[in-house]
Amino acid sequence: MLIRKLFKFENAHIVRDCTTQRCSENIHGHSYKIEVLLESNYLDDGQMVYDFGLTKRSIKEMIDSFDHAITLWSKDDPQYIHAMKQYSNRWVELPVSPSAEQFSRVIYLIVERILACTDMQNGEREVTLHSIIVHETETGYAQGFKEDAHSKLMGEIKLEDIKFSNQVKSEWSDSTLWQKFLDKERLENPKKV
Ligand SMILES: [Zn+2]
Repeated sequence: MLIRKLFKFENAHIVRDCTTQRCSENIHGHSYKIEVLLESNYLDDGQMVYDFGLTKRSIKEMIDSFDHAITLWSKDDPQYIHAMKQYSNRWVELPVSPSAEQFSRVIYLIVERILACTDMQNGEREVTLHSIIVHETETGYAQGFKEDAHSKLMGEIKLEDIKFSNQVKSEWSDSTLWQKFLDKERLENPKKV
């Protein structure tokens, strides 16, 4: 069975080398919609695949990092990166360009790590991340699966190369949250949220 949770954020970027000048040469924004699709052949004690209330914590917080932020590609012009970081406090830096396709891979890897670090406590069984859908506009989306997220052909993404600005970190319930996921610390999933 598949279940889906929708998240939303407003984010700015430039997508270098895309075919339209508007997209590749200008900072612009999108109202993103992110669908997290979880899959299991089993139901938990509450006869659910996974209680969406549990996604309110780490998954929501990490995805919300992108809200009212600019997403930068670490291989962009260093002067541009420097200027953005100097004049905009909420930024995320990625090892890949912030296209919808790469967003789906990046968010897949982030949510995958969160789930791997989360102790299930309500009888959830074999809950896996099916895919991430990223809607950049009303009319199109990119859907990333496990094989896409881990594909080297699409550009290797190491979690430690995803960087969040200090202001983004300061708005998490725990400013070391991402570091905890990088260190694979176990996080308890409380039965009641
Ligand atoms: Zn765009």
